[in-house]
Amino acid sequence: MIDVSGGRIVALQAGSAPTGDAVVLDGLVIPGLANAHSHAFHRALRGATQLGGGTFWTWRETMYRVAARLTPDEYLELARAVYAEMALAGITCVGEFHYLHHAPGGVTYDDPNAMGEALIEAAAQAGIRITLLDTCYLSSGFGAPPDETQLRFSDRSGEAWAERVSGLKERDHARVGAAVHSVRAVPADQLGVVGVWAAQRNAPIHAHVSEQPAENEGCLAAYGVTPTRLLADHGLLGPRTTAVHATHLTSEDIALLGGSATTVCMCPTTERDLADGIGPAHEVQAAGSPLSLGSDSQAVIDLFEEARAMELNERLRTRRRGHWTADALLRAATADGHVSLGWPEAGRLEAGALADLVTISLDSVRTAGLLHGAETAVFAATSADVSDVVTGGRVIVRRGVHQLVPDVAGALRQALARVAA
Ligand SMILES: [Zn+2]
Repeated sequence: MIDVSGGRIVALQAGSAPTGDAVVLDGLVIPGLANAHSHAFHRALRGATQLGGGTFWTWRETMYRVAARLTPDEYLELARAVYAEMALAGITCVGEFHYLHHAPGGVTYDDPNAMGEALIEAAAQAGIRITLLDTCYLSSGFGAPPDETQLRFSDRSGEAWAERVSGLKERDHARVGAAVHSVRAVPADQLGVVGVWAAQRNAPIHAHVSEQPAENEGCLAAYGVTPTRLLADHGLLGPRTTAVHATHLTSEDIALLGGSATTVCMCPTTERDLADGIGPAHEVQAAGSPLSLGSDSQAVIDLFEEARAMELNERLRTRRRGHWTADALLRAATADGHVSLGWPEAGRLEAGALADLVTISLDSVRTAGLLHGAETAVFAATSADVSDVVTGGRVIVRRGVHQLVPDVAGALRQALARVAA
């Protein structure tokens, strides 16, 4: 039995009978999952980008067409549905890497944070926590001016970014962190501003790092160093920092990330979807980096799949099994993911932790007859096996039904039709 008071776990006791007002969670109970890297609007691209071939860069053209259209109202509707899909998958906290700040042409909304506020409100309406990783994005590449779509992303300077982001208010379910889109999008002389803003608030800071070889080549041409070295030289690595993807690293990059205890966020379903490559997750962890996991482009929203994909990618590369235990993979999806989003009090089943709980059904066709704990969660279950979800002691999903957004598929269909129109 798990006693909850004030949104937190007060006590856990094995084998005790439920009392009168207890909610029975029938299945395997694990801590709430942290989706450490998300771009909510990319949900509009699922399936649509699978026609024909292409690369990361051709996928980005399609993504930009969606980005060019969204309004704050449409984004609230779409993100609420996407976050409700996440809740059904057992995700109780999302790290939203948010760069779609301004109206078309770069025009500032009356509320300069209208888009970010829409995301914070969407998470509230879907019943999950959010860390809004407000993203600095100033350049189309190493100092070149932003293109037409990227004008919506740009605050024009690091100082203007910091001033706008300082207007965002945290709420019970929402925290604010910083992000550097990439070393392509933030010129080296602006990196320090973002780092200082986050350091002053003890806030998390995330950055896309070396997802593509072209980024490494551009960074070497512009600055003579790798993206990881550039971030290190500007004081951006450390325990509050998360490097997302970190796919194409040198051995020095791995030592810099690990030695600074920078978290590395792997997004295996996106990385395989976009043909990015397989990042050295096992090596960076051995060097000292905690790992987290993200659904990123929303090709799939299933953190169990992300967790097992990290292990299975490593098996394909090395032709050996068992690089991580199921417990270690689940830790990336729960406790370490929450730390990387600035919620160290979540993602653990222990007294004092936030009462964020996920129940995996043990009588579905995928899980029936299985006896093991973490192994069942990571190597057998899918998001469809999540039956109940609790955030802060509040039941958000009951027997597979979202309690705040009753028809999530319908909400997605409606929101996506508006975006496509
Ligand atoms: Zn991303």
